[in-house]
Amino acid sequence: ATYEDWAREDNYHKSFLMPRDEVLEHAISNSEANGLPDIAVTPAQGKHLKLLAQSAGAKRILELGTLGGYSTIWLARALPEDGELITCEYVQKHVDIASQNLDYAGLSSKVKILVGPATDSLTKMDPKKPFDFVFIDADKPNYPTYFKLCRQLVRKGGVIFVDNVIRRGGVSDLSVTDDPRVIGVREMLEVVKQDKGMDATTIGTVGEKGWDGFMYAVRLD
Ligand code: SAM
Repeated sequence: ATYEDWAREDNYHKSFLMPRDEVLEHAISNSEANGLPDIAVTPAQGKHLKLLAQSAGAKRILELGTLGGYSTIWLARALPEDGELITCEYVQKHVDIASQNLDYAGLSSKVKILVGPATDSLTKMDPKKPFDFVFIDADKPNYPTYFKLCRQLVRKGGVIFVDNVIRRGGVSDLSVTDDPRVIGVREMLEVVKQDKGMDATTIGTVGEKGWDGFMYAVRLD
């Protein structure tokens, strides 16, 4: 199969399950018009995140890597009226565009953007106010650190969902030794392996943005 097959497949299934959504289209077009990179999750992946957070009954969601707030909008839609989402982003321009997109979506009151390196924001958080659902999608070299810190901040039974853990097969291709993103994912997998209080699986995906995959982890203890 080729990339065209994957894009066709994504669009075909989407035509049944995902009606046009003006708010999300605005988030994408406003991000593009302002020069943000096209690296948000796909619509199908965004909806998957929303459904997962909803199934987990999430009232407090944490996201690392806001970009233009596309996945943020999807996740915030899973929240009940009194729910809250905290998202971490260190590029001010991304924060500005995400704020516009969240305003447009009518979700600003539920979402707080923490500006600065995600590690700094995480280390300041109170583990006594745990999260039900965590989405890790910031810089990949820091994935091991993010996983360790988020693991302390997720409640028992809560979920950590990590994007881009397959990287077109690069993570499992041991001839790739010089890509810090690949190394970051490998080291995170080692952290998860050692952590007996977390149970996890990875799933490879193909679609309109190519071949990659995610990790779904649940806190046991
Ligand atoms: N989750 C977004 C979505 O699907 O719509 C996409 C996030 S994009 C893949 C990664 C984002 O993480 C970028 O906006 C980047 O600026 C941000 N980022 C990278 N390193 C970071 C760091 N150390 N702290 C906070 N944010 C960071």
